Amino acid sequence: MKHNRVFHTTRLRLAGLYAGTMGFILTLCAVGFYEAMAYSHVSELNHRIESVAGTLHDGLEASLQQPGKLEPIVQEFIPSLCIARTTCAYKSTATHYLGVFQEYGYYIRFVTLSGQLLASAGEIPTDLPVRVETEPWQTLEAPDRTRYKQLSLLLKTANQDAWGYMQVGRSLSDIDGHMVWVRLILLIGLPTAMLLVAIASWWLAGQAMLPVYRSYRQMQQFTADAAHELRTPLATIRANLESTLTPDATDADAWDTLRTVERQNGRLSRLVHDLLVLSRVDLQGLPAKQESCNLNDLVNDLVEEFSALAIASNISLTADIQTNTPITVFGSEEQLYRLVANLITNAIQYTPASGQVIVHLKRDDHHALIQVQDTGIGIPSKEQARIFDRFYRVNSDRSRHTGGAGLGLAIAQAIAKAHQGTIQVKSELGKGSTFTVQLPLRKDK
Ligand code: ADP
Repeated sequence: MKHNRVFHTTRLRLAGLYAGTMGFILTLCAVGFYEAMAYSHVSELNHRIESVAGTLHDGLEASLQQPGKLEPIVQEFIPSLCIARTTCAYKSTATHYLGVFQEYGYYIRFVTLSGQLLASAGEIPTDLPVRVETEPWQTLEAPDRTRYKQLSLLLKTANQDAWGYMQVGRSLSDIDGHMVWVRLILLIGLPTAMLLVAIASWWLAGQAMLPVYRSYRQMQQFTADAAHELRTPLATIRANLESTLTPDATDADAWDTLRTVERQNGRLSRLVHDLLVLSRVDLQGLPAKQESCNLNDLVNDLVEEFSALAIASNISLTADIQTNTPITVFGSEEQLYRLVANLITNAIQYTPASGQVIVHLKRDDHHALIQVQDTGIGIPSKEQARIFDRFYRVNSDRSRHTGGAGLGLAIAQAIAKAHQGTIQVKSELGKGSTFTVQLPLRKDK
């Protein structure tokens, strides 16, 4: 296939399309997976921050009196609270709903309305910028590039005056670290998967195109063989005409040429007819008109028809019908006639004088069996698989002299296939051949 440009390019294009489509789907899946993972991490974190901030907000608000002033009760709520501009050691909180501060990276800050830090607790770098925004959720970045997710809630005094902000947040460093790993795995995994997909696509495209390529090769071979077969008689006719169309050609020469032209014309007609039959059976299978065919009558008729040819070749041709009841199949009588006729013609042609040809007809439970048995020259076992190929002749010179263009068995096989049947050969060199045609019996018989 790689030597044929059209097939090679088509295979490349097909593989490219497969790989492109699969690559697109894989990338979509990878991006979707990454986004879903990031979303689930962040939404879980938001949920936890929200629940802690909500509880603190409800507990603290009632005890706040003066805007921007931290009441001592706040420190009771959060024992580890460190008042701004004082030095504090980190103390673990005892209150159960603040247990989250004992976990990695959480912090709480109290900020005035103008953005001045009042106090903080938990793991918070001193240089984390303080921002006061109307949006409740913020993402902050510390100078060391660690990101923090923060929720700012406005606190009110008992008189409903704005007190300041409570900011609850957490470091995103572990989530960011995790997502860096996921990104890395996807960045390495995706191209590797794409490479494997590309290799698989190339192989799959090759497999998908193989039957098309085979039939294309067969067609090419068929066209070349047909052209070759047509060329030979045409060249003979031309050579004869050229030698006759000279001033010194006699009447006898002209008659000789005409006889040659007639012979070659017959050969050409047979060949064209065979090609037409073959292409018709190939294209349509069975003709539109199908009928019930009585094989007993068909075999008897054929043996009768070919008896003159058999006598002329000094060969005994007989029918052996091993049943009293008619054996019937469904199909085209004309095509079946042609099938068996081709086998009988071959049997007579490839059997020397004094030989014997017997046409057996029998049946098993589901099939009709027609066997054409001869005591002829036989077919070498290595050739037996190829004799059904179009234009194939076992020994070109011998068969050209005796037989046709090598289409007889190809036509027989095409007809058998069109009738859901098979054709097989058993042969021994020098002893004879038996061709067996198996056809499905008519269902209601
Ligand atoms: P052809 O028109 O040359 O006979 P076929 O397709 O009918 O072509 O047969 C293919 C080849 O098979 C023949 O060339 C011949 O060599 C071989 N063959 C077919 N039938 C027989 C037979 N009964 N005995 C020996 N050889 C046979």
